[in-house]
Amino acid sequence: MPVGFLLEMLSGQSLPLGTIYCIGRNYADHAREMNAELPSEPVVFLKPPTSAISDGGTIRIPPNETNAHHEVELVAVIGAELHNASLDDAHRAIAGYAVGIDVTLRDRQTHAKKHGLPWALAKGFATSAPISRMVPAEAIPAIGDVEFGLEVNGTVRQRATPRRMIWSVEELIVFLSRWFILVPGDVVFTGTPEGVGPLAEGDRVRAWLGDAVELRLDVAVAV
Ligand code: MG
Repeated sequence: MPVGFLLEMLSGQSLPLGTIYCIGRNYADHAREMNAELPSEPVVFLKPPTSAISDGGTIRIPPNETNAHHEVELVAVIGAELHNASLDDAHRAIAGYAVGIDVTLRDRQTHAKKHGLPWALAKGFATSAPISRMVPAEAIPAIGDVEFGLEVNGTVRQRATPRRMIWSVEELIVFLSRWFILVPGDVVFTGTPEGVGPLAEGDRVRAWLGDAVELRLDVAVAV
């Protein structure tokens, strides 16, 4: 069986990437900047595993799509099978953390929302899921305090700590496990803080998670 994207740990081990679960509107300030109501339960969508790219890669904006936005997010990597998990199960199942970017075709997403259509094209196109190397969970005792962020061409656009999330990483995993069977290598993009904005051809993007990992990307228009 061909191996697709590998989640690389700082320790040198790697894990094949499974399903990419994504959470929308998990920071109140981002919901506000999108003029969206706060959800009563997590907003969940998926990206195909083949949409992932690693550090040093290129975000390729589909042709004729001009409003591609960056959404920097804490990414949790699942290390055990989970179904109907408790909070403790969820905590123990987190293998590690990475920083990722939920690249979003904003105009297409806005159109989909307005017409009650799925977000698959707006959120799941090829290269829409940059993911950094992974830091083992045991190396980060208090993930809530670890700053993550994103800059474009050297200007900081987004910066936050996971403490500001509406639902914690463990709560999100518990919720997902009521609907899905999570398996090792699945990842959860946990939502973006405020400051999302457009990317253009030639931009240099850098995202970070504390001092632990970085994600450097170029931006191009796909041909
Ligand atoms: Mg997002």
